[in-house]
Amino acid sequence: MALDTFESAPPRAVVHRILVVDDNDSVVESLTAVLEGAGYDVVVARDGGQAHSAFTMRHPDLVLCDLKLAGNETGFEICERFKQSNRKIPVVMLTAIDLPRARKLAERVGADGYLTKPIPAADLLVQIRSIADAVYQKSLAEDSPPATPQAIRFACRCGKRFKVSEQHRGKTLTCPSCGEPVVVPRHA
Ligand SMILES: [Zn+2]
Repeated sequence: MALDTFESAPPRAVVHRILVVDDNDSVVESLTAVLEGAGYDVVVARDGGQAHSAFTMRHPDLVLCDLKLAGNETGFEICERFKQSNRKIPVVMLTAIDLPRARKLAERVGADGYLTKPIPAADLLVQIRSIADAVYQKSLAEDSPPATPQAIRFACRCGKRFKVSEQHRGKTLTCPSCGEPVVVPRHA
């Protein structure tokens, strides 16, 4: 790989610990085997209560969440609360429910991905990586402060003063005071 290619590669998320929220023993067992086999540290929660304490206490880097769970909270509600408390942690719905309505709702509560079970292990691992990277890159973009546009101040020949944003440099506007054209200076 050429050095410049390497340097221009987008930053990647670091995922070490994954919280699996699912109440089905065989699903939990197979997910744990796949994820641990890929080097992840797996934390399991079987309902909303366990999910929330694990999210707070164990600091997962990513959450895989089923939709239908035992207890009184659905995966949608769990996802919504997770995203409200820390939206930088990717939450991926992993469910047997493949309905457009469920996908829409997942999106609305902030889910970063929607995968359907059963999913081949290799696909799951690829999806986890790419969703985590996408969320990480998005959060980096949100963290970097937007460039503050510099205001340009100038005056019309009639004395009317203007303050406009930088993007108007060189444009001509009509002075509301005297009606004459005024050119926004290219240099402050
Ligand atoms: Zn004027």
